[in-house]
Amino acid sequence: MADIPEGAIRPAHQATGQSGIIHLYIFNVVTLVISGLCVALAAIFIHLYRKLKEESNARQVALAELEEKERNFRFITENSADVIWTMDIATGKFTYVSPSVYNLRGYTVEEVMAQSREELMTPESAERAFGALTHAMERWSAGERGDTRRVTEVDQPHKDGHLVSTEVVTTLHTNAEGQLTSIIGISRDITERKKSEEVIRNLAFYDSLTRLPNRRLLLDRLEQAIAQAKRKGISLALLFIDLDKFKPVNDLYGHEVGDWLLQAVAHRMQCCLRESDTAARIGGDEFIVLLPEINNSADALTVAEKIRDILNQPFYMLSGQLLNISACIGIALYPEHGLTEKQLMKNGDTAMYQAKESGRNKVFIYHGNTGSAMSDEILLRLNWRKSYESGEPSIDEEHKELFRLASVLINTAMEQDDHPDRFAQAFQALLAHAIKHFAGEEQILAAYEYEDLEEHVRLHRELVLRANKLYQAITTRQLSVGQLIDFIIDDLVKGHMLKKDRKLYHLFRKVP
Ligand code: GH3
Ligand code: MG
Repeated sequence: MADIPEGAIRPAHQATGQSGIIHLYIFNVVTLVISGLCVALAAIFIHLYRKLKEESNARQVALAELEEKERNFRFITENSADVIWTMDIATGKFTYVSPSVYNLRGYTVEEVMAQSREELMTPESAERAFGALTHAMERWSAGERGDTRRVTEVDQPHKDGHLVSTEVVTTLHTNAEGQLTSIIGISRDITERKKSEEVIRNLAFYDSLTRLPNRRLLLDRLEQAIAQAKRKGISLALLFIDLDKFKPVNDLYGHEVGDWLLQAVAHRMQCCLRESDTAARIGGDEFIVLLPEINNSADALTVAEKIRDILNQPFYMLSGQLLNISACIGIALYPEHGLTEKQLMKNGDTAMYQAKESGRNKVFIYHGNTGSAMSDEILLRLNWRKSYESGEPSIDEEHKELFRLASVLINTAMEQDDHPDRFAQAFQALLAHAIKHFAGEEQILAAYEYEDLEEHVRLHRELVLRANKLYQAITTRQLSVGQLIDFIIDDLVKGHMLKKDRKLYHLFRKVP
């Protein structure tokens, strides 16, 4: 019998003896191993299948969640009152704009996406918004990877032409490589918020009856005006205005008419002012006008006289009745009458009360306490004589006052080195009175139809101009005080009042 090669397996029925058992054993082992392998493979397969199934389910869930999120996001963006947008940094073009832009600006999404920067916002807003973005990008490039959120106020043109106030919030976004690629922004309409802020600001800084600035805003502007005057070496003026006998208007016609009159007064006052001036209501019938830039006291007096005059014109009530009122105005000048808000406010108020005390319908420039004190100390006095009288009582009263003020000036001139401020105040008082007197005299001459009125007005102007020039020359030490006194006595008093004015006397003196 031929040998069975090693490793061969014989069928069981052929197996004989020990080798048959071994072969059977091996066969069984192999069978077992193969079935084991099959079971393991099946288990692996089932496991893998389950895993794949789980992953697929998870992916589907994730996709569903993503879709849900996108649906929500779309819902929010498409229904939000705010405009949500994205912009590509490289091209500067929008990549998405939510439809609410139509409500905000009246343009469709397509129209907005095609707009240039100039069409999107005002130049000032563009400077602000793109400045903030550039700054955020620069910080990012410099390695500051913190918060890139920026909030800017931007005015955007509406299709109908008006400007819409918006608040724009932006953040920068990067791609997978960490490069800045896009901007995500939200633009919100803040028109209502701005209006509320404006209302609050108005309540805090404006008088609700007249809409004029209130005391708080006036003090704020005065502080700024003083700082500017100091810097530029210029003068400013405060005019304190109080209506004469305003209470009787309330009593006679009622509080409502009183309110209406205060509004009308505020309106008239503003007509006499430049844009840079401020007229404020600081209490009941009290107003203050701030003239932040004047050349001299004559400028302030001119404005004050204009206001006094315009308030003295009749007011026509709705009922058709006429209402006649007047006002007193006190003037305080920086730097002559005070260097601080407090001093100027106090001295302007004093000047106004001086005007009230001297009768109503008057303009007074601050004399300080020196006014009465100086008259007591007068050593040299220009004496008024009966022969100087013109026959027109108000002109004579004013001429007498000019004599008095000229005497005060001469006396203060003698002690100018010790008390330069007194000399300055006396000069301002004299000039203020002269200007007021000239204006009054011109009105009287016009009423008398004086034929040489034009020439007389010219002489008045010349005198005021020369007085101012001479005074400036003294303050810069180009002229002696004596020369100014010569001018006052020779030109103003003797030359004008006693000589030129004499030509007018025949108008007033009754023919015997
Ligand atoms: P004077 O000539 O001395 O200035 O006296 P006046 O009658 O003008 O009275 P005064 O300036 O002392 O007081 C102002 C008055 O204005 C007091 C008050 O009755 C009235 N008043 C204050 N605020 C208002 C207001 O808002 N509306 C109205 N209608 N009257 C006011
Ligand atoms: Mg009053």
